[in-house]
Amino acid sequence: MTVRRYLIAGNWKMHCRRDDGAALAADLAARVGPVADKRFDLLVCPPATIITTVAQAVSGNAVSVGGQDCHAQAQGAHTGDIAAEMLADAGAGWVIVGHSERRTNHGESSAVIKGKAAAALRAGLNAIVCVGETEAERDAGNAEAVVAAQLIGSIPDGATAANTVIAYEPVWAIGTGRTPTLADIAAMHAMIRARLAGLVTDPDAVRILYGGSVKPSNAAEILDLADVDGALVGGASLKADDFWAIAQACP
Ligand code: PEP
Repeated sequence: MTVRRYLIAGNWKMHCRRDDGAALAADLAARVGPVADKRFDLLVCPPATIITTVAQAVSGNAVSVGGQDCHAQAQGAHTGDIAAEMLADAGAGWVIVGHSERRTNHGESSAVIKGKAAAALRAGLNAIVCVGETEAERDAGNAEAVVAAQLIGSIPDGATAANTVIAYEPVWAIGTGRTPTLADIAAMHAMIRARLAGLVTDPDAVRILYGGSVKPSNAAEILDLADVDGALVGGASLKADDFWAIAQACP
């Protein structure tokens, strides 16, 4: 049986300046210490402007740092964009691509996200590729078809369990306090695992995170599900006590 370490990832979104970002990161670093927990890896994804600050704050401790988006190109005339290589240069080892706030607010297609994920791998970053259905898509009975299509369209060549993580994030559960039933999460993660077979060489080893209103009170039951290998956490990742409690809920 393949053993997958849990990954607890915090998406800080457009929150934190240098001072509070460094304080939050240092708080987490002090809790983890230099040796990773037996059960989980810890990752924080602050705004790009403070990646270096946060990387310095966690230096020497088992906390990884990631960006929240990257451009597909390594350089060029792309005003406001950030190359994956630049994230790596700033101190990141990871990047989130295809978050629903990018898909929706910036009109990013799965083809665009695939280019970004490929760029992450080119730059030596690990990619977290996000997928998830809207409420209307779920109500119409299309949730699994939508997520499968996003998955197939977004995973780049060369993706493996070592460099790519999938995050299933139902759009309607992000920041709303609502979550799917445990049965629905389990069914979607099983479908994703099955679909990965045609997309990566080591599908059983790929970590599949659940994201969408994860908090200390629901983390244990979600993390206990088969094929849930961690969590992508938004709001609750901004409080060290809550983020740490979620990590401690790993079985
Ligand atoms: C997210 O934005 O990735 C997320 C899961 O947010 P929240 O935990 O706040 O729902």
